[in-house]
Amino acid sequence: MRKALIAGNWKMNKTDPEAVALAKALVAEVGQYDSCDILLCPPFTSLKSVGEVIKGSRIKLGAQTMHWEKSGAFTGMISADMLKALGCTYVIIGHSEQRQFFGETDDTVNRRTRAVLANGLLPIVCVGEFLEQREAGKHEEIVKNQVVNGLKGLSNEEMKNVVIAYEPVWAIGTGKTASSQDADDMHACIRSTVEKTWSRDVADGLVIQYGGSVKPETIDEQMSMPNIDGALVGGAALQADSFARIVKFQ
Ligand code: PGA
Repeated sequence: MRKALIAGNWKMNKTDPEAVALAKALVAEVGQYDSCDILLCPPFTSLKSVGEVIKGSRIKLGAQTMHWEKSGAFTGMISADMLKALGCTYVIIGHSEQRQFFGETDDTVNRRTRAVLANGLLPIVCVGEFLEQREAGKHEEIVKNQVVNGLKGLSNEEMKNVVIAYEPVWAIGTGKTASSQDADDMHACIRSTVEKTWSRDVADGLVIQYGGSVKPETIDEQMSMPNIDGALVGGAALQADSFARIVKFQ
């Protein structure tokens, strides 16, 4: 059985005092909740303070990206060692906003993912198509290529530590969610791609999150689908009551 993972991707939101207040409210609401795994991914500037607030709770800490190099002259970048020293366990890799605005490609996703795993951290690797690609009937091919190329060269053992997030770009921050059936169909396609490329065992154990305008009103149906194992939540993760309701999906 796969344990669901509900993650809040705070993106470039929340000053440090605001981040601390949100984390405190979440610890009060769902800090000891155990029916799913809960992850918070604040901006780099609040990893330390949010990490301190959630200490002793079941909530985990993650980052929104990292560099693959160990250290050195990489202005603006953050390394795995820096994240580990603050108690991070997960790193989001290949988010569509990184792909669209900061030059992320399947190749850099691959480098980052390998570095995340080599450092004992857990990657959440994001994939997803644009609306034009879906309308042209190319969505499955696009996402399959992102999975195969982004995760190229990983061993079966490494794949057991990978989470995939399917986030159709047209559903992110737009209020439009993919229908639960369309999302589940894509998750099934990702699972079968992973089975073909790695193994049945890896595919069966793979946690595949859905992301893209997940809300309290959508989560219950989404989580009832056989291939949806969690959610990567942006906008609705910025308020304690809505994120707590998503965590407590039925
Ligand atoms: P959204 O963002 O929930 O605001 O659509 C999700 C994401 O980009 O991870």
